[in-house]
Amino acid sequence: MNMCSGPDALKGVGEKTKKIFERAGIFQLGDLLHYYPRAYDIYENMKSISEIREGETAAVCASLSCEITVRYVKRLNLSTVILRDSTGCLQAFWYNMPYLKNTLKPGKRYVFRGKAVRKGRQTALEQPAIFDIDAYVNIQGQMQPLYPLVDGLTNKMVKKAVRQVLDELEISEDMLPDSIREKWKLDDYQHALSQIHFPDNETNMRQARQRLVFDEFFLFILALRSLRNDRIVVRPSFFLEEKPVTAQVIQNLPFSLTAAQQKVWRELEQDLTGNQVMARLIQGDVGSGKTILAVLALILTAANGLQGALMVPTEVLARQHYESITELIQKQALDFKAVLLTGSMTAKEKREAYQKISSGFADIIIGTHALIQEKADYQNLALVITDEQHRFGVRQREAFAAKGITPHMIVMSATPIPRTLAVIIYGDLDISVVDELPADRLPIKNCVVDTSYRTKAYAFIRNEVEKGRQAYVICPMVEESESIEAENVIAYTRQLCESLPDTITVEYLHGKMKPALKNEIMERFLKNEIQVLVSTTVVEVGVNVPNATVMMVENAERFGLAQLHQLRGRVGRGKEQSYCIMVHSSDSKKTKQRLEILNQSNDGFFIAGEDLKLRGPGDLFGIRQSGLMEFRLGDVFQDSAILQWASEAAGRLLETDEELLLPEHQLLKKKLSIYIHGGTERLNL
Ligand code: ADP
Ligand code: MG
Repeated sequence: MNMCSGPDALKGVGEKTKKIFERAGIFQLGDLLHYYPRAYDIYENMKSISEIREGETAAVCASLSCEITVRYVKRLNLSTVILRDSTGCLQAFWYNMPYLKNTLKPGKRYVFRGKAVRKGRQTALEQPAIFDIDAYVNIQGQMQPLYPLVDGLTNKMVKKAVRQVLDELEISEDMLPDSIREKWKLDDYQHALSQIHFPDNETNMRQARQRLVFDEFFLFILALRSLRNDRIVVRPSFFLEEKPVTAQVIQNLPFSLTAAQQKVWRELEQDLTGNQVMARLIQGDVGSGKTILAVLALILTAANGLQGALMVPTEVLARQHYESITELIQKQALDFKAVLLTGSMTAKEKREAYQKISSGFADIIIGTHALIQEKADYQNLALVITDEQHRFGVRQREAFAAKGITPHMIVMSATPIPRTLAVIIYGDLDISVVDELPADRLPIKNCVVDTSYRTKAYAFIRNEVEKGRQAYVICPMVEESESIEAENVIAYTRQLCESLPDTITVEYLHGKMKPALKNEIMERFLKNEIQVLVSTTVVEVGVNVPNATVMMVENAERFGLAQLHQLRGRVGRGKEQSYCIMVHSSDSKKTKQRLEILNQSNDGFFIAGEDLKLRGPGDLFGIRQSGLMEFRLGDVFQDSAILQWASEAAGRLLETDEELLLPEHQLLKKKLSIYIHGGTERLNL
């Protein structure tokens, strides 16, 4: 058994369980080391009944005040009892545990630990775990890892597997040179790994996390630097000229470009027709109109007889972009050929697309990751654009560029990153900012409400639909697993259907659905055949349905503000007044304060800044703020200080040993190469 063995090398793991691990991305034992907890469960200090607040997980020391009653509710076996301590009474209930009636002794005190939920008009403990008092006192204060899960994978399974790997296998040497570790007081690698999974206390866990985040950023920055060096020496292998067709397209658009769009377009046009390979980041808030800029760049490229490609993170988005470009080409009677290439197309469709791409028939190519697959062979790719870049990694960006001979590159992002961070993250990309929304937009009206407002919200949606508009409802989040999330969306949709008249078509969308079905649903929503779309956050990225005017977000408190801002950006994309209803089910003051920021502002930059101030950079139990880039642990906002260190460290390292030739840098060099080029060897950092 070593780090490269499959999960089935573990005790008690067979073929079936191995498959489950693989579904979670764990193919080798080494992968487990970096399968980080998403949070920690802390056995909190015991509370008295009167102190318990709805929504929290609490442990109470209490005794049964009556016999347990067992009955059936909707085919579920339900046991209920009233607990009592010196401060009051509290109901507790369990599903499918009828034997408790015989095992719990009346009069004896136990510790009951569970989530306090609303049941009828009262607060009750849901499915509390039961401990003997001594046993609980022993584990009180300990931190237990909670892992992200997939279907069939339980927390216990991961915990046990990680434990075994940590105990029995040898973890690789530290790739960081001592000088760097000492300068930034970073944990030793092996210690960090064991403490991130099973921390002795919170301080250790934070230390460990810091070290591992540093590693992520450090490799990322080194990889960027090595790519950049390749880029600077080369000139474009083709030359583009300005063409009148772009001005003509702009002239014929149904709207006029904003001043910000015009400014950025001038920058793009200049770069594209210049004699250096362009590498430019277009940053602009949701709805600022970045797509048309990409389209103009693609058209200019096509007009020069060269190919341009646009890569987006989801099928839905790819299809949407493809359709709007095709429409534009038709309406304006342009002589260009657009082609779509996505993973869910049939083999035959793909073959046709490949053929059109390699023969040069296609000028404008739109697609998902499929664009960088081996079979996609371009004739003369001169421009590559990635939309919502943070979903793509360095590696993918590189693979995309490698499809052409030093093509121009544009990266589009709606994530507001302060310039200082952008410089680190995007290396020496030039930055254009679309800092203005189209003039015909009314600011979105926001409200933050609690769950008792739901009925009114539904009535509001109904009203908007009757006016001809459409609505999104983002379903309550379930963190445990994707399949529970799916069930949840389905149940919620059923319930919503009952609250709305039959004339309104409600459908749902979730991550586990087949891409073809997702596309179909989105298509129907776009055509207003569906009026209300219930969804998980899959709609977050880039979808454009200007007729939708209501965005209702359940469990708004569980989202990062940046993410909420993205969700909200799905409405307010047309001329009509739009609304964002954020429903929260937590009483905490901090939650309200956070949501209030969104309530006050529609400006992404402002929101990100305020959010950070409120949370403080150390708030790592919180929600990932940006989900930016490919980091497992690090978050460029929250961990901006570490990002800065890593950037400095990378600078110093390369100053003394640019090619990483010194013996003490060999392990680092190896890991960097795996990081950049991937391959069969996995990066068990
Ligand atoms: P994002 O920057 O979020 O990608 P999009 O490019 O999807 O935004 O644009 C959002 C919507 O605004 C689209 O329907 C687009 O056609 C429209 N739009 C873009 N530019 C303008 C403009 N200058 N005036 C009016 N509408 C515009
Ligand atoms: Mg967009």
